Amino acid sequence: MQDLNLCANDKRGQSQLEAGANLAGWDEVTQGTVLTSFEGDATGIANTKAENRTYSDFNSYTASVASWRVNKPVFNRDICIDCQNCWVWCPDSSILSRDKQMLGIDYDHCKGCEVCVEVCPTNPKSLLMFNEHADLEESLAAWPEKKKKEKK
Ligand code: SF4
Ligand code: SF4
Repeated sequence: MQDLNLCANDKRGQSQLEAGANLAGWDEVTQGTVLTSFEGDATGIANTKAENRTYSDFNSYTASVASWRVNKPVFNRDICIDCQNCWVWCPDSSILSRDKQMLGIDYDHCKGCEVCVEVCPTNPKSLLMFNEHADLEESLAAWPEKKKKEKK
């Protein structure tokens, strides 16, 4: 599902590392300095799909926080109702969605915070946290059953 090339490319972080010796540290930057997110003219960038934007080296899109995760969210397409709650609430824009259809997780930029799982309204949830190394098929096979309503 992640063949839309929405994730950071293979060179993520590389140019920052190579240029690092010549860059000022975060505590050396002059107040008021502007770090541009995109190369060149960014007019209309909001209407340009993520995979078609030319990001600058200062944009976090070119870096990955995948190593921060202990657990990862796994997506179960069979239960999802495409409500977009996870897309709205994810603090790292790591939910992949096109034309209001949930596609999956951008694992380059997901930090494993679990917010998407928390806000998913389905029963059972369509997103659940599994160990970072868990196999997708095994995770889907271990999905819980629908919970019955408790009688009052
Ligand atoms: S775990 Fe957090 S960062 Fe990752 S997709 Fe869910 S809300 Fe976004
Ligand atoms: S919150 Fe759950 S049901 Fe809604 S789009 Fe995300 S995964 Fe699907």
